[in-house]
Amino acid sequence: MDRMSKHEELHRRTKIVATLGPATDAPDVLAELIAAGADVLRLNFSHGHADEQRERVALVRRIAADIGLNVAIMADLQGPKIRIESFQDGGIELANEQSFVLDTEMDPQGGTTEHVGVAYRNLVNDVTVGDILLLDDGQIVLEVEVVRDGRVHCVVIEGGPLVDHKGLNKQGGGLSAPALTDKDRSDIELAAELGVDFVSVSFARSAEDINEARSLVRTAGGHAHIVAKIERAEAVQNINGIIDASDVIMVARGDLAVEVGYAALTGLQKGLIRRARSRNKVSITATQMLESMINHSSPTRAEVSDVANAVMDGTDAVMLSAETAVGKFPVQAVRTMSEVCIGAEKHESFRRPKNYRLEDVFERVDEAIALAAMYVANHLRVKVIIALTESGATTLWMSRVRSDIPIYAFTRHEATRNRVRLYRGVYPAQFDAIRPGADTVHAEAFAVLCSRGVIAPGDLVLFTSGDREGVQGQTNTLQIMEVPNPTASRASSSE
Ligand code: PGA
Ligand code: MN
Repeated sequence: MDRMSKHEELHRRTKIVATLGPATDAPDVLAELIAAGADVLRLNFSHGHADEQRERVALVRRIAADIGLNVAIMADLQGPKIRIESFQDGGIELANEQSFVLDTEMDPQGGTTEHVGVAYRNLVNDVTVGDILLLDDGQIVLEVEVVRDGRVHCVVIEGGPLVDHKGLNKQGGGLSAPALTDKDRSDIELAAELGVDFVSVSFARSAEDINEARSLVRTAGGHAHIVAKIERAEAVQNINGIIDASDVIMVARGDLAVEVGYAALTGLQKGLIRRARSRNKVSITATQMLESMINHSSPTRAEVSDVANAVMDGTDAVMLSAETAVGKFPVQAVRTMSEVCIGAEKHESFRRPKNYRLEDVFERVDEAIALAAMYVANHLRVKVIIALTESGATTLWMSRVRSDIPIYAFTRHEATRNRVRLYRGVYPAQFDAIRPGADTVHAEAFAVLCSRGVIAPGDLVLFTSGDREGVQGQTNTLQIMEVPNPTASRASSSE
């Protein structure tokens, strides 16, 4: 897997998560999507059966191997999205000021303009008079008037069309459904079976939800890192605990905006990205980033600006949902996103670290080496950073520091190579640091990047490694080396 990927060739540091779906199932489309620079492919477990997910994963792995690239796969759990049941005729029209009942006891198929079923029985305990309930991502707004006998009687504040199975949120949060449903638990087993690289927990409320998901993944034999989707008001309140418990956070703007209100969203996004980075964690910015490209081959200016701003906020990755899963231009959407990221990365705010962790005291040697490496790299004309790594942790710390110097994760572990495709500015390379032996390890590492055309003789390379390669957490050495001229080194080795 020693090819140069698209983003590497173009020096794109921000990564792209693309959601798979019917629009990407044709093998040639998926191959183009990966070639165009999708770094992480997301399976949305809200849709599709186990066999469809199995087929998608097999196809991704096969294509990635054919092209000679590592890509990561993310399984996104459905979570406890609370939904209305269905209507007798598939849908209704709600008028402003009419009354409407959410009924936890009625026939699930019997909805009319007067009432509709809700399977979530606890709804009546979670709401009180005066609460605002939002249906269909906030398209329909209800105010609670009376809660009685398993029914929530509401008045319609903002009416409109409403169809079967639309989502239900409470403004300000507070619907108490646990984050992991029975379906999620069995989907975690599927995700482990498929060997996915990331598992995303939808509607996480607290660190406990993340810890539970992680232990279920491990019990099922999975190695996936855990993504906490921040899409509930409670998650924002418990944010530090959630970030510390997870590996990655997703700013899941679709549901989040409904819970906290649109006006609070942009400030929250910036704060969440900054907070994740300062706690050594990764962030993904998601939802409606290029929404108009579901139907059009080019984006709106507002969308371009939104993607660019997320890049400037310092997000590790930007995500495409329906744009790739069901859109008419999935490959074009990835290309567009890639171009916008590269453009935004040219902005000066992107390159310079702003006193990043200058006052910190490090507790670990490997973390100190990683930060020192970035200081040196940013102040000397170093071409690339090569980190010999087991888990990828060294490259994660490095990539928290703003820089325009590429960071290469050299590792023998496929799982690590896949995973680092999510980290900003980090690129994977297959490399067995144990095999070459101490005297040839540098030359062999340089050869890998010379053959990819990334470095050439005379370039300065920053190299981090440990005395005991093959053991996690052992990085303790930082070297600055010049890539030797191949003829010079051949001459000296023949002496
Ligand atoms: P979803 O999550 O697409 O699974 O709902 C993302 C979001 O809510 O923004
Ligand atoms: Mn969501």
